[in-house]
Amino acid sequence: MRELAFIGKGHLEWREANEPRLQGGGEALVRPLAVATCDIDRLVVAGLVPVADPFPFGHEGVAQVTDVGDDVASVRPGDLVSVPFQISCGKCETCRRGHTGNCERVERMATYGLPIGTNYGGFLSDIARVPFADAMLVPIPGDVDAAAVASLSDNIPDAWRTVAPHLEERPRAPVLIAASGASIGLYAVSIALALGAERVDLVGGNSFLRERAEALGANLLEREFPKRLGPYPITVDATADVKGLACALRSTEPEGVCTSIGIYFADTTPVPLLEMYTKGIRFHTGRVHARPTMEPLLELIRAGKFKPELVTGETAAWEDAPEAVAGHRSKLVISR
Ligand SMILES: [Zn+2]
Ligand SMILES: [Zn+2]
Repeated sequence: MRELAFIGKGHLEWREANEPRLQGGGEALVRPLAVATCDIDRLVVAGLVPVADPFPFGHEGVAQVTDVGDDVASVRPGDLVSVPFQISCGKCETCRRGHTGNCERVERMATYGLPIGTNYGGFLSDIARVPFADAMLVPIPGDVDAAAVASLSDNIPDAWRTVAPHLEERPRAPVLIAASGASIGLYAVSIALALGAERVDLVGGNSFLRERAEALGANLLEREFPKRLGPYPITVDATADVKGLACALRSTEPEGVCTSIGIYFADTTPVPLLEMYTKGIRFHTGRVHARPTMEPLLELIRAGKFKPELVTGETAAWEDAPEAVAGHRSKLVISR
């Protein structure tokens, strides 16, 4: 079969790969139909993420089930499904606590389409293997457009966890989002407003992101990150910029909560720990646990309250994936 491989900075190409086969009764094979770039993909393509060897690309997508093992009960060939980017069994204690990104039955950080440990293939391929079909796959209802929810595998859940649990705790609370030029901050704007935040203020971002954020209903603050804003009960660091992180942390009110989705590759990153201590804020950093958020997100989308397609900046045909991915500057969705 054919898969898209990341070769090196700014360079991707189609290559032949072994077609995955079912390796157990609980597995499924799927054919990806709509694949989105993750925010980290743009950094990978730009050569800003250390990558040693070529790897199969793409880890957000909607696919059609083509084959299932005898023990699979939840999906059948022909079904349209979202495939979470993290491999998880759904049954171990960690999965049952909702921490599906750290499933005990697979190696740590087991993921599609990223050069981490075992190669599970990427979604820009003819076939992908799903090791725990019943636990992982989420059927996409007929009234939902596949391209619109291509990011339901990863970036949309990543945005959800920054605001949804905290707005449940503090209904209607205002939210501050420090953002850089990618999609998660935009999804967070939309989800926070859909869940009843009285206001979402956005600081930072390039002109594309700021324009989109305003169209989605955000209140735009300055482009540069100031030392402090607010304070706000809920803040989000959707940057990978130490100034954005510090701004979000210092803008969190006493006993407030700050979530960082940024990946800081440096060994140490400065944080204003004294201010965090004296105010008593909750700070969370870590990978999203995508799988448990996917059904509530689909409900929000079906109710018309959250329109993820409004975040998509670019689209491309499947055949054009190598050039489209190499040149993408915003959320890209590739379909066939
Ligand atoms: Zn990702
Ligand atoms: Zn597990």
